[in-house]
Formats: sequence, structure tokens, C-alpha cells
Amino acid sequence: MTESSFPVTELEEADTLLQELLRIDTSNPPGGEKEATDRVARFCRDLGLSPEICGADPERPNLVARWNADPSHRKHRPLVLSCHLDVVPAAAEQWTHDPFSGHHDGTFIWGRGAIDMKGFAVMALAALARLRQENLPLTRDVIFAAVCDEEAGTRLGSRWLVENRPDLLGDKPEYVINEVGGFSVHLKGRRFYPIQVAEKGVAWLRLAVSGQSGHSSLPARDTAVERLGRAVTSITRTQLPWHPSEEAIQFIRGFAAPDSWVARKVAPLIAHPTIGPRLLPLAVPSGSRRLSLEAILRNTANPTCLVSDPALNVMPEEVSVDIDGRLAIGQTAEDLIRELEDVLPRDLRSHLDWEILHEAPASSFSTDTELFRELKAGIQRSDPEGHIVPSIIPGFTDSQNYAKLGAQCYGFYPVQLPEELDFASLFHGVDERIPVEGFHWGIQTLTETLRRFLVR
Ligand SMILES: [Zn+2]
Repeated sequence: MTESSFPVTELEEADTLLQELLRIDTSNPPGGEKEATDRVARFCRDLGLSPEICGADPERPNLVARWNADPSHRKHRPLVLSCHLDVVPAAAEQWTHDPFSGHHDGTFIWGRGAIDMKGFAVMALAALARLRQENLPLTRDVIFAAVCDEEAGTRLGSRWLVENRPDLLGDKPEYVINEVGGFSVHLKGRRFYPIQVAEKGVAWLRLAVSGQSGHSSLPARDTAVERLGRAVTSITRTQLPWHPSEEAIQFIRGFAAPDSWVARKVAPLIAHPTIGPRLLPLAVPSGSRRLSLEAILRNTANPTCLVSDPALNVMPEEVSVDIDGRLAIGQTAEDLIRELEDVLPRDLRSHLDWEILHEAPASSFSTDTELFRELKAGIQRSDPEGHIVPSIIPGFTDSQNYAKLGAQCYGFYPVQLPEELDFASLFHGVDERIPVEGFHWGIQTLTETLRRFLVR
């Protein structure tokens, strides 16, 4: 596909809209997505759509716009194109260009959200704009959703929508296209395109530890703080058991398959509960890649917040630590608590109290669907030498909530990246930016994929 098959003016308009959205600071916390939502609403109205704005907080709205198929052509349940308009905060002093400048230097468009994920909002809108101009005879309704609050856990965003206004999402949408996938990854001279089909679950826990209380001017042993310190040390220094799901092994095999037979034989061995944890560091020595592979093969638990009484001169009877736990496929918060108790010093066990603050299971979606095949074909048309890999991420996205509506959700935000650009480092990283050429490539890839899928 060449740029000439897509009107250049529309690609330029997409750049401008992305710059406008990047200039609106939607850092979460605190969020404040309203201005960005209003801008997107204006674009939708220009397309002849009637976006609905709703949510629990007027300053933090969600937007949903629906393009209905002609009833005489409608054959299937809707497809949702979903994005979030909030971004993670950025420390401006570390950036080459102001993270909220939308700076366009001809090669890149810079800004917090260029990758995660205002770029996809614009990509989806540009595709819809093109297909509406062509009067594409849809066989299903297409719903565009731009939600708030993804980065802080989805409570006001997709979770609110799913719990309060599922009707806006078509009640039971068949499919959702969302982040994280479709971008190119360069490995040993080859280009891979992960398409996300699974994500880990969440178990946010609070561990309360009790101990001897009293005036802190006296020497004290067996205090809650001392016990908490030991508990935190044990949790952070331990590797939890291996849970090699089929999805995780398929992901590893996907990157290994085009390589030597050794790699093909080694990948399945990683599933072995005792060989796997030893083999992975040998097979994948690079730090960040290995860390994320290890994360999808086991539950993880990171103590993040300490909770205590503010009195400096009192030995508290109880102190707590909040733990960001992430669940491998098939695991529950109770499973994770059991694994953590196993690694804690025995003498602490009678002084512990666990609370599950929030739990959401891992989600996993089928690769045996019409849409997955179409996404795969879409990448292959745009890059015949690319290898598609069904992928799983250690984090979570809005798909976690859409899964509750029974939808098959895929991470597909196609961007062709130059080899020297490390995608993973841009996600929530310093100098987040999107290559203009790769962005236009993505707009055309998504448009052509939808053009074929939506008339099936
Ligand atoms: Zn995101």
C-alpha cells in the first residue's frame, strides 16, 4: 500500500488532530480529560455522528459514538474501536521537547500519549472518516469509544461504561479493537508484529501486620514495623512459582518459530515448571525483554505503598503495605496470597491479615475468529515480510472490562517503527513520540483492514 492510495490531506489532518490532542494535558492523576473529549466529540460531529458524553464525573467524561449499519445489511453484532484519552504524567525537564507541545519535526510527532494512546484515537477516527466518505455498506454497527481513567485503573472509564451504560457499547459487542499490539518489533533482522490476545489479571492486596505497641522511647522488639520490614523483604526477594499458560508459550514460540530448530525445541521446554525458570534467562539474556517474559509466566507482587499512623513517637499496633499483585492466566487473588504466605517467615504468619482491595482475572481471547484472521491479513498486506505473534502483556488495558460483555478483544494499534526505536521504552517513557511515516502506515493498515472486515 502506498500513501497515494489514501488522500494525503487526510493524513495531514490526522497529524494536526494528534498534535491538538497531545497539547491537552490529560495526565492521570488527576485526569481532566474533558477538553480532549470535547475535541474528539467535535470531530465525530463533523463526520455526521452523534457522540454521547457520559460518566460519573463531568470533568472526566467518556465519549461513545455509533455508526449504524443499514438494517437491511446488518448481519453481526457490533465492533468497538476503543481508546483512552488520559496519559501517565511526564517530567518535562527530562524531555527533548515539552511533553505537551505536540511538536512535529517532520519525522516524529512528540508528546505524552503519542503511543499510549491518543495516536490510536486519531488513527481510528481517520479510518472512520475515510470509510464514511466511501459510504461503506456496513454489515455491523461500529462503535467508537474514547474513555477516561485507564491509566489509574479504569474505574471512571471503561469500567464505569461497562457497569452503567453497556447499551452504548452495543450491550454485547462481538469484538473490540484496543491497545497494545500491531506495532513492529525488530529481532535478529526480522520484523514481528504482536497482536495482543491476552493480558494478566490484577490482585491489589493490603497486608496488615500487627506487633507490640507502646511508647517508642523504650527499646522494643517484635513490633509491627519490624515484622512488616521482614515481610516486604521476603516478598521482593522471591520468585513465585511458574504458571506457563498456553497463551504465554504460544507467545514465546511465536518469536522463536522463524529461527533455528533449536529455538523451536527450546521454547516448549520453557513451559516446564522447574526447567523453565532456569532456561529462560539463558534463552533470553536481555534485561527488559526477559523481565516481561518472566512476568507473564508467573504471578508477581510488588509492595508499593506503606500505610501507617502518622505518630512518630508511638509504636503502632498495626502497619500495612499495599501490594500490586498481577495474576497469571487462570490464577486468583487467593492463589497469590497462598504463594506469598509460603515465602514469608513462619513466625510472622499469625500476625498477618490480608485484604483483597481489587481483583480482576486475567483475560484471554480466541485467535480462531474472523476478526483475528483479518487483523493478521491486514498486517501481512502492509508488510509481507512481517511475522504475526499472538501476544500477552503483563499489564492490563480497558479490554479487561470489555471482556465482561463477552467481547473478543484484540490489541491492534498498527505502527511501523524504525529499527532503532525501542517501542517498550516509549510506553510511559521519556521522549514518547510516534514516527510520522509509521503512523500513516498504521492509518492505512487499519483503514484497509476495516474496509474488508466491516462488509463481511
Ligand atoms: Zn494505554
